Amino acid sequence: MKRIAIIGAGTMGNGIAHVFAQNGYNVHLIDVSQKALNKGLATISSNLDRMVAKEKIDKSLKSATLDNISIYTSLSEGVADTDLVIEAASENLEVKLKIFEELDDLCAENTILATNTSSISITQIAAATQRPDKVIGMHFMNPVPIMQLVEVIRGYSTSDETTSTVMEVSQKLGKTPTEVNDYPGFVANRILMPMINEAIESLYHGVAGVSEIDTVMKLGMAHPMGPLQLADFIGLDVCLSILNVMYEGLKNPKYAPCPLLVNMVTAGKLGVKSGEGFYDYSESKKAEKVSSRQLR
Ligand code: NAD
Repeated sequence: MKRIAIIGAGTMGNGIAHVFAQNGYNVHLIDVSQKALNKGLATISSNLDRMVAKEKIDKSLKSATLDNISIYTSLSEGVADTDLVIEAASENLEVKLKIFEELDDLCAENTILATNTSSISITQIAAATQRPDKVIGMHFMNPVPIMQLVEVIRGYSTSDETTSTVMEVSQKLGKTPTEVNDYPGFVANRILMPMINEAIESLYHGVAGVSEIDTVMKLGMAHPMGPLQLADFIGLDVCLSILNVMYEGLKNPKYAPCPLLVNMVTAGKLGVKSGEGFYDYSESKKAEKVSSRQLR
């Protein structure tokens, strides 16, 4: 494993490119949008600056990391001669199926095709290729340079060889890979999303306000961030789509998204990325409370 292609230079793609490049891999970062590539590179550069300022890495590692990354808007040029491709494009089934169909034609037969999807079935994505044994989930956590976990998801046909290669590569990045099977929500979101949904239900039923719910979970359960603030950071649209995947895939009403979450997404209140969710991010970067009365 020397050359890695990352598809998508957004929140996750640039973080994944950063950790591979910092660990000496040759990274091809691909996006349909040149603007997204420029923004992704700028984010990597400023994250490296922060690490230099905190004396976690020295300046020479910063420039070596940036030198290890090349950018492409063409999928065929970007994935040429790569050993591992990690898809981190938008969370949309059609987008991912199309990318994997193309990858199957473009990549050498030994290339492993991984996806960073939060919720889409690995088995379904693998079925778009002629190499389901070499398709696997590599679910990095946000922010990638900081978070330790990689949830490694085996699709129905993923081989032992593919799984052990991906576990090994993740360890070389200094991460802790953890193997799970391919069922809706995998493990991370199957446990996290019902908690976030229950926090939203508590707000919806007037049990407590936004900051009170988050305070209970932060101070009472030692969570670094309350569930409503975390939902804002993940994106309320992303939370809704993961809950819907679990609700439909597991046919269990306990995963039904709270009507308040559905309303907020419909109204365009998506959290940090739209400037408002359970907190207000419009005026300053500081999370400000939006009163629960306003939300309902
Ligand atoms: P994002 O919207 O920030 O970035 C997605 C990028 O993909 C965009 O730059 C877009 O231009 C690009 N893109 C779209 N279609 C493409 C295509 N056909 N070819 C190349 N590039 C394409 O999204 P994100 O938050 O980085 O999420 C990416 C993936 O990671 C999703 O599957 C998401 O579910 C998953 N994920 C997200 C988080 C999170 O906290 N945001 C955490 C874990 C996993």
